[in-house]
Amino acid sequence: MSAKPVVFYLATEVVPYAKTGGLADVAGALPIALRQRGVDISVVMPHYPRFTPPEKFGLENTGLSVEVWLGGQKHTGYVLRGDNRGVPVYFIGHTGFFDREQLYGTPEGDYPDNAERFAFFSYAALELAKKLGLRPDVFHLNDWQTSFLPIRLADKPDPYFQNSRKILTIHNLAYQGLFPPEVLPCIGLSYHIFHMEATEYYGKFNTLKGGIVFSDFITTVSPTYAREIQTPEYGHGLDGILRKLGNKIVGILNGLDYEVWNPATDPALFARYTARNVRRGKTLNRKGLLESLKMPDLGLPLAGMVSRLAEQKGIDLVAAALEQAPDLGFQFVILGTGDKKYHDLLGEIARQHPDRVSVTLAFDATLARRIYAASDFFLMPSRFEPCGLGQMIALRYGTLPIVRATGGLKDTVVDVAHPEGYGFVFEPYEAPAFLDTLRRARAFYDQKKALLQAVRRGMKLDFSWDRSARQYEELYRRALKP
Ligand code: ADP
Repeated sequence: MSAKPVVFYLATEVVPYAKTGGLADVAGALPIALRQRGVDISVVMPHYPRFTPPEKFGLENTGLSVEVWLGGQKHTGYVLRGDNRGVPVYFIGHTGFFDREQLYGTPEGDYPDNAERFAFFSYAALELAKKLGLRPDVFHLNDWQTSFLPIRLADKPDPYFQNSRKILTIHNLAYQGLFPPEVLPCIGLSYHIFHMEATEYYGKFNTLKGGIVFSDFITTVSPTYAREIQTPEYGHGLDGILRKLGNKIVGILNGLDYEVWNPATDPALFARYTARNVRRGKTLNRKGLLESLKMPDLGLPLAGMVSRLAEQKGIDLVAAALEQAPDLGFQFVILGTGDKKYHDLLGEIARQHPDRVSVTLAFDATLARRIYAASDFFLMPSRFEPCGLGQMIALRYGTLPIVRATGGLKDTVVDVAHPEGYGFVFEPYEAPAFLDTLRRARAFYDQKKALLQAVRRGMKLDFSWDRSARQYEELYRRALKP
């Protein structure tokens, strides 16, 4: 290994180019922190022309092309290159596969050819390394979409990459990339890797399972989640294999990009602020937000939420709270998009309590920032939460998180019952426990001095990427030991 490990970091969404969730935040920030530490890292992602027009993002055409055979058909991709604050980013394009309205699918469901799309991307990344004359020390993979790479190398070993290590980061074990076994020939894999100790899972081809089995190390995005996924409760059917491979699982907490998330410089806010003038900053942001949402200011604490509307996020508990909004003594501002049943449910509750509950069903980066800034409390009662960025962003914006004790939420939020606390934590996934915690937060809101101290403690926490990047760098070196 060279003094500087050469790393190819594969992700299917990366801030600022394309984002649907936390993976994009991580893939946009971690490589920058690693490069600052001296790791020779490049990012490889698909090129989605509708999200990343080359002119807008200053992407250059490399003139390279990559060829991949899938199901007896040759697919040729183009390669663009960009720069994300000093990190080279290679974009692998293919009009048929990636010039679509969305990244993974529509509200009606996933795109039916997702296996082909992301197998193409993963194999094309191998071709790209060769074209660039690079022999990565490490392929750092993220989630099932890039797990095709280690599966491919296990199925068809390539001497060119015989010394390359594979590290897979699981951002959310619930998404595994399940396909009928007939997909195997269509994605250039043989049935040799389709058995219980490899990619087979109750008769289906499980992409993430293959990634787990064929990678040298598995990381997840918080220490608690690393333990939880080895239990039946949180293992999504893969806890058995994860327990067996327990000694190659490492939990590394995600960081937050403090340049991207900073209330002192955030242009989306109605007023910018720091820990020193947070009270005034919040008052101005509250006024701007409520006016823009056409909501009266009832002088009550504001509880915000910015989230995918999926079962994972505890939307059932939130709905139970919103229904009792008049009794709880909060105004609620919710921004989210996701499952239709939650769109209907939350929309209906907002119509019942227009002065107390505002629901915006959209993905809106500006409104999200305004909610983080204006709110006094931030709701994240997740059923499970691998790491969670929302609570870290909230803290940075002086908003006290109300969370369930699971995964990364447990690792990052300390209850105000402790002298050093800056949030509210509850255990059982039950509406009464959540409502009690909201009442506790409501009472805490009236203790003005304690409240301001907790807010300031939260704003001063350090969840920057540097600490996490150091742990990833150590893991690269560990993986590369002969
Ligand atoms: P997950 O990755 O499971 O969706 P995280 O908390 O790790 O959850 O990250 C979610 C990210 O997406 C945060 O940056 C959050 O602000 C953002 N986000 C989620 N929903 C929306 C939305 N409707 N509009 C704007 N941003 C959103």
